Amino acid sequence: MTSTVLRGGTLVSDQGRQRADLLCTDGRIAAVGPSLDVPAGTEVIDVGGCFVMPGGIDPHTHMQLEMMGTVVADTFLTGTAAAAAGGTTTILDFVGPEAGQSPLDALDVWRARAAPSVIDYGFHMTVSWWSPAFSDAMASLVAEHGVTSFKFFLAYKGRLMLPDADLIAGFRRCRDLGALVQVHAENGELIAYLQDELRAEGITGPAAHPRSRPPLLEGEATLRAIAMAETVGAAIYVVHVSAAEAAQAVRDARARGSRVVGETLPGFLAIDDSVYASPDFDFAAGHVMSPPYRPKGHPEAIWRAIDDDTLSTTGTDHCCFTRAQKRLGVDDYTKIPNGCGGVEDRLAVLWHLGVNSGRLTPERFVALTSTNAAKAFNLHPRKGSLAIGADADIVVLDPDKTRTLSAKTQRQNTDFSVWEGMEVKGVVVHTLSRGRHVYADGDLRAEAGWGRYVPRKPFGPVYEGRI
Ligand SMILES: [Zn+2]
Repeated sequence: MTSTVLRGGTLVSDQGRQRADLLCTDGRIAAVGPSLDVPAGTEVIDVGGCFVMPGGIDPHTHMQLEMMGTVVADTFLTGTAAAAAGGTTTILDFVGPEAGQSPLDALDVWRARAAPSVIDYGFHMTVSWWSPAFSDAMASLVAEHGVTSFKFFLAYKGRLMLPDADLIAGFRRCRDLGALVQVHAENGELIAYLQDELRAEGITGPAAHPRSRPPLLEGEATLRAIAMAETVGAAIYVVHVSAAEAAQAVRDARARGSRVVGETLPGFLAIDDSVYASPDFDFAAGHVMSPPYRPKGHPEAIWRAIDDDTLSTTGTDHCCFTRAQKRLGVDDYTKIPNGCGGVEDRLAVLWHLGVNSGRLTPERFVALTSTNAAKAFNLHPRKGSLAIGADADIVVLDPDKTRTLSAKTQRQNTDFSVWEGMEVKGVVVHTLSRGRHVYADGDLRAEAGWGRYVPRKPFGPVYEGRI
């Protein structure tokens, strides 16, 4: 039996907080209370003055993904180590079958790639092509393999985008299987149209990226996806909401009782599209992701959507590339690999921007970084909770410490950070993964292969994950 006790901290759940010790035994939370008696040999971690919270759940990562002629710079090993250093103890990554490849075969590939992970992980399945065979395989994915969420693309014409008829069929299939629909919502036809126009004008630099994907196109696609899901009776989760128009579509749907959950990323709360106007290609390209950072005003609209509970989860869309990789698009912005890092920074940035400013309570921070994702994806109460019996996935944050975020010091496997030079107050000082002390104040003690695959159960006829 191995035990660890966290002494003297403030325990925070999404519901409230208390001063108490927390005892972990054999990977689970075993006791909570003041001045706990603990077995001989228990590791004692003094966490006085710190907040003790459920470990972060990042429901949106892409490790080791082959994309746009290259491969994401973080493997599951390096990416999950960076996550652990940042207080995240579970990731949900996306399996991406090639066109025509069986999703079951693709899952095998991802299971093998993810085996060295240092924290727990689960999978969503990207519906990258559609046919009766894919539809058949979904039943086995849900019932036998614990993959209960499926991501559909309304963008990336000619690659991942599916026509509405296939989306409707796929959403119905999710409904029938008790699975959750996820959507990347941008209008791919209009993006292709705008890209052609910009090309005809000879505009090829990163400044064209946001011009080719304006906010209205995200708003339209978000409303269309919700309309399809609502009509067929499927629950829907909108990933990386970045635009005011998209947030409004989610808000309206939730107001009429539709089963919709909206996710955003910390970057959409703080960064605007002025980054793409930089004459420094590496800087501008380093911010190229889809959807792009939005014009001024949108970050505040996304904050308001968090305030009024329109948006209830945060991910990172961690999909990082080096400067050299981004230069694949030096002559053509459409060839810049799309994606930014962030799996290591999400908690620090959200605490700094949200809790320090008074915009988020610590309880809401826990909801946004952990508990709500656990509920949305059927991991709760095993994950996202400090209740007795839950997995001992824990983050300890010292609210008085400061740290400067930089590509030079990050563990993410890239030489770029969208948070370069930002000083954050509130630093993750300990991370426990199923009771194992994997990060201790700068000392990363992660062990390759410690992370386990977390299969998830389907939802019942009523989606309980609406949060
Ligand atoms: Zn993504």
